[in-house]
Amino acid sequence: MYKVLDGSAHPLAPKEIAIPAMPEDERIWVPQAEGVWFRPMMLNTLQGQWCNLLRVRRAGILSKHLHPQPVHGYVIKGRWHYLEHDWVAETGSYVFEPPGEIHTLTVPEDCEEMITFFNISGCMVYLDENNEQIGFEDVFTKIDMCRQHYIDVGLGADYVDQFVR
Ligand code: FE
Repeated sequence: MYKVLDGSAHPLAPKEIAIPAMPEDERIWVPQAEGVWFRPMMLNTLQGQWCNLLRVRRAGILSKHLHPQPVHGYVIKGRWHYLEHDWVAETGSYVFEPPGEIHTLTVPEDCEEMITFFNISGCMVYLDENNEQIGFEDVFTKIDMCRQHYIDVGLGADYVDQFVR
């Protein structure tokens, strides 16, 4: 056992995070695209990983992307599927997206809103229909998006810091 100063964590241990998953303040949702938002929860700069909620309020194709590293998902509300697979992720579903997976996220017409928790490692590599890269996201681009949005909505540039480790 290491010697603790206050009976809890080692002084060098990162601070814990305990927050309502569903924020009361709508401004906490960061716009990602038309009808798409994410809610940051844990932005892990040490391991290149992040946890967030994805909220979608439009039907159709959202993005085609490659995951170089694993993703774990849990569907809180609604449903969605990947064009490349024949299963549907329903409310309450757990989804594992293995490294190397390429898929096209799609929300069905009869789903008004889907909310899914994702734990994403590494990055998202966005692809066009020919699998050519057209963009990427990693924990740092997510932090930058949050920071700019929280400035824009008046929460302040440092609001995102509570989610960063
Ligand atoms: Fe994915």
